[in-house]
Amino acid sequence: MSFFYSAQKPFLIAGPCSAETQAQVWQTAEGLKGLPIRLFRAGVWKPRTRPGSFEGKGEEALVWLQDVKKEFGFALTIEVAEAEHVELALKYGIDCLWIGARTTVNPFQVQHIADALKGIDIPIMVKNPVNPDVDLWQGALERIMASGVSNIAAIHRGFSTYKTTRSYRNQPNWIIPIELRRRFPELPIFCDPSHITGRAALVAQVAQKAMNIGFDGLMIETHIQPKLAWTDAAQQLTPAELKDLLQYLVIRKEFAPDANLDLEYLRQTTDNIDAEIIDLLSKRMEISAQMGEIKRQNNITAYQPERWREILETRCEQGNKLSLDKQYIAVLWQIIHDESIKKQLEQPVSNPLQP
Ligand code: PEP
Ligand code: MN
Repeated sequence: MSFFYSAQKPFLIAGPCSAETQAQVWQTAEGLKGLPIRLFRAGVWKPRTRPGSFEGKGEEALVWLQDVKKEFGFALTIEVAEAEHVELALKYGIDCLWIGARTTVNPFQVQHIADALKGIDIPIMVKNPVNPDVDLWQGALERIMASGVSNIAAIHRGFSTYKTTRSYRNQPNWIIPIELRRRFPELPIFCDPSHITGRAALVAQVAQKAMNIGFDGLMIETHIQPKLAWTDAAQQLTPAELKDLLQYLVIRKEFAPDANLDLEYLRQTTDNIDAEIIDLLSKRMEISAQMGEIKRQNNITAYQPERWREILETRCEQGNKLSLDKQYIAVLWQIIHDESIKKQLEQPVSNPLQP
């Protein structure tokens, strides 16, 4: 059974952004007692954007974590960015490791970690790279898989942009973890709403969204006194706030027998509509071919900018009247029109009977 299997969703990871002091780690763990925490997290080496910030307590903090495990029975997870971190984590009985977003971007660094993991089958979680590149995320996962690690999960923590928007610190760009799921259907994918939102007040709604999409777990930064945190103070929840969040979190099932009939009806209706759309597209293409022939015979250019502008404008307007997003219609018709022009430029098949 996979280390990350959870009969009851979500697979929950909680704990402070950073291990700051022995008391802070202990009190946070004490606050989390009784919650369904599968992993207690804490950063002991912190990848900071600028030098001079708090960079983690290192080995000293691993001792505090060991105490938490002994007292409260929590399994532990920390971020590793170097082969040496892996070695120390194992020495102090850390149960699971994660690779941070700033490390996932660097294949050399990920490979160093993968090499250090050879022959050690410890569960690994790989956060997405800071940039929205699903191939890079996949590459990091593949490097870790190739080192023989059998329990792997991915963590979606959002993607950085030039300026943080008013709502999010890191854009969720949900389509990327969804694409990862398409590529690795068996891979557990967790969501880290703390780093996506950057704000405690928004964590619950993003956690809920992740559950609605079908994520398997959540990593939520939790601190006994968030306002005083040495790192990521704005986004950490108190243990009581986390308890509240869990109480209101709605977990969607993958299947619901009662909904099956209704869904089946709607799916069949969709199938019929799609068949009609394809039929119409094919008819439209036949007309395009005929127009192409007339244009060829009369030596008129296939692409007519004025006509294209008119098509785009009228279709967007018509769509908009029927509550369809203008951008959606524009993108769709660009594809339809491009294909039509391509068709019109095809040379007509010559008739072998006519010289
Ligand atoms: C963290 O989890 O505290 C962290 C540094 O995260 P990320 O790698 O997502 O920035
Ligand atoms: Mn953090």
